[in-house]
Amino acid sequence: MAIPLSIYNERRVVMVRWKRARTGDPHRHYPDVDVRGTKTPEFAAIIGMMQDREAYVKMERENIDNAAPLFAVSSDAAKLQVLEPAGGTIPSGADTIIKLKALTGGNPTEVHLEIRFGSTTGPIVSRLLVRCYTRRRVTITPHVVTIHDGTGAGGTASVANVANIMTHVQAIWRHSGVEFTIGATQNETLNLATVDIVSHTPFPGELQTLLATNWVANTINVYFVRQIGTGNFLGFGFSRPTATGLGTNPGIILGDQTASGMIHDTAWAGNDLAHEAGHFFQLWHPNNQQPPNQREDTWSRRMLMHNHNLQGAHGNWKDNNSYGSVGGNARRGGLVTHKHITGIATDNETRTARGAIVSGPY
Ligand SMILES: [Zn+2]
Repeated sequence: MAIPLSIYNERRVVMVRWKRARTGDPHRHYPDVDVRGTKTPEFAAIIGMMQDREAYVKMERENIDNAAPLFAVSSDAAKLQVLEPAGGTIPSGADTIIKLKALTGGNPTEVHLEIRFGSTTGPIVSRLLVRCYTRRRVTITPHVVTIHDGTGAGGTASVANVANIMTHVQAIWRHSGVEFTIGATQNETLNLATVDIVSHTPFPGELQTLLATNWVANTINVYFVRQIGTGNFLGFGFSRPTATGLGTNPGIILGDQTASGMIHDTAWAGNDLAHEAGHFFQLWHPNNQQPPNQREDTWSRRMLMHNHNLQGAHGNWKDNNSYGSVGGNARRGGLVTHKHITGIATDNETRTARGAIVSGPY
């Protein structure tokens, strides 16, 4: 069949697209898809999977009939198994969720999920590159802190839901083959100047004392407090290089709320913790651009390492990162990148982070 198309240089006909198979919060079974560009060297969208684990990914029909017979096939069934749809037979309809299992690990081992036309050996209409990772473990020590005043009275413990926040962090990093071992929660009591508040002024203020409290070496120490200062801060992260410069221990501090009553909900706090862990793993903001020059493209706003957790609304399609919104702002996404796009420094974040985890300390 002839297809009349005007082409100058290059035109890519996209038969099907790849998407995260759910919206809203990150989930350990639903990897985000690095769909940034279709060029060399991968010529495909990419997901990461952890060895021996299952994942779902969504295939959407774009320039192919909803009833065209399509089949999901692993390029190497010893490495990647297609669990659903049964036999790889994709039902008709606009989109399909495909369930996969990574049977191998590596750093990474690569295998393709192929969409074939007509039969399981028919021509390939799309490929998704699946990178299968051996698990790398990182230990987090959570500290739930009660801050009393100078007389040792009046404080209340942070009300952060540590378990749910950690589930959120695990969900984001699973797809880079990283798993966190969560140490037992340490309950801390400190006497500082003001009840329930750790002051960061003049910087680093009382943060230094907090970060010296029962700090556990070779783990990421996370301190949950009621409130940080009296401004709008809900979190601080001090990775090793920053901490060394300040003369403090590395660590992450998360507040439950601000003085004005902003509440750090689980999705927000979990994303912040996962982001700060990214800094511990030597990741920087997209293309290392800082405010007011942060990147505003939809790819960057979907990345875990974007500068802002609450992203100002543009009032257009850019506001949908697929991770939901809070207070009229788009939530930052959870994508840890797999590609290295030309012109974007600090890309292929999964590779950088896994290297940093092995070389440590972070
Ligand atoms: Zn950051």
